[in-house]
Amino acid sequence: MKSFAELNLSEKTQQALRRAGFEHPTPIQAQAIPPALAGHDVIGTAATGTGKTAAFLLPILERLSAGPRATRALVLAPTRELAIQIGEELERFGHGRHVRGAVVIGGVGMGNQAAAFREGREVIVATPGRLVDHLAQGTARLADVEVLVLDEADRMLDMGFKPQLDRILAKLPRDRQTLLFSATTGGEVAEFARRHLREPVRVEVTRSGTTAERAEQQVYLASQDEKVPLLLALLEVDDESTLVFTRTKHRADKVARLLERAGHKVSRIHANRSQGQRRAALDGFKDGTFRVLVATDIAARGIDVAEIGHVVNFDLPHVAEDYVHRVGRTARAAASGRASSFASPEELPLLRGIEKLTRRELRRAAVPREASAFR
Ligand code: ADP
Ligand code: MG
Repeated sequence: MKSFAELNLSEKTQQALRRAGFEHPTPIQAQAIPPALAGHDVIGTAATGTGKTAAFLLPILERLSAGPRATRALVLAPTRELAIQIGEELERFGHGRHVRGAVVIGGVGMGNQAAAFREGREVIVATPGRLVDHLAQGTARLADVEVLVLDEADRMLDMGFKPQLDRILAKLPRDRQTLLFSATTGGEVAEFARRHLREPVRVEVTRSGTTAERAEQQVYLASQDEKVPLLLALLEVDDESTLVFTRTKHRADKVARLLERAGHKVSRIHANRSQGQRRAALDGFKDGTFRVLVATDIAARGIDVAEIGHVVNFDLPHVAEDYVHRVGRTARAAASGRASSFASPEELPLLRGIEKLTRRELRRAAVPREASAFR
């Protein structure tokens, strides 16, 4: 196993890593950091939870530790939550350096964000929509950007951000380094990379050994009527923090209400909730105020909460890869966790798709008797 010192990171960065409790680089970090430090464009593919954030933030910090004060790095991320999290990681690793960051996202005022550009904050972490708003108003300053990061590029494209990305990329200097990270490299990502990256070094960490494989996983074959009693029964078994995924916002609200009625401390996160509500839900889940967080895929994507003991797929995702992203929320870098999926008869084709993608058959668990009383 490589050490961070062997990756030629400065003593300052190594100190920050020690403070953060990172002992060894993860495989994607070990592979992506050297070419990124050498100034190459990089396409990094690895599953959720493999440490991609540090894989791009550390080379950025090394590069920016000397040189002019201006916005020299731009990180684009698909959701507000993810942008905030990257901003937090940046503060953690950038502590005590002359690198200032700012998070530029929707749902909050534009004034401070415009000021961040004016001041030339070195690293701007933005969602594409809000950055385009700044371009339209003439408040974004991107002329000095040397490094562009596209985090979760697959998801940004899936979410329909291609026009915004094209507009942003048109404003960036051509002579720059581009780091693209993605959990998958499907057709659209490949085509995007072909247009915007220059002789990229490809680093790929295959699925084996990823969090999605380490988590203990099982599936309950349950009717729609059995799902709520089944979830209640599972919540009785232990007191682990539990992230519950539903297919729609409406179902997230409904499940959260029913759990609350049963006496559980529950928060919700989905696209119809305001930025403040989403933030409060996530913070409350992180600090243990809420034991259960009910979420839809888009809102939960990339959220990093240490110590999620249990992920419950109340509904199976329609896109099999979302299963991997969801399960990646548990059994993170060090901890282990478990994932329980509920599959109603209509969802069996989705289950087959997931098993085909993950190349494993999920263990069939018996529905507890209390829950099957509804049969
Ligand atoms: P990804 O972007 O690949 O989904 P993250 O960058 O969010 O993954 O990292 C997942 C978790 O693993 C975070 O809690 C992060 O702090 C932790 N982590 C990342 N790299 C290391 C490391 N080298 N050692 C220990 N923990 C790490
Ligand atoms: Mg990430």
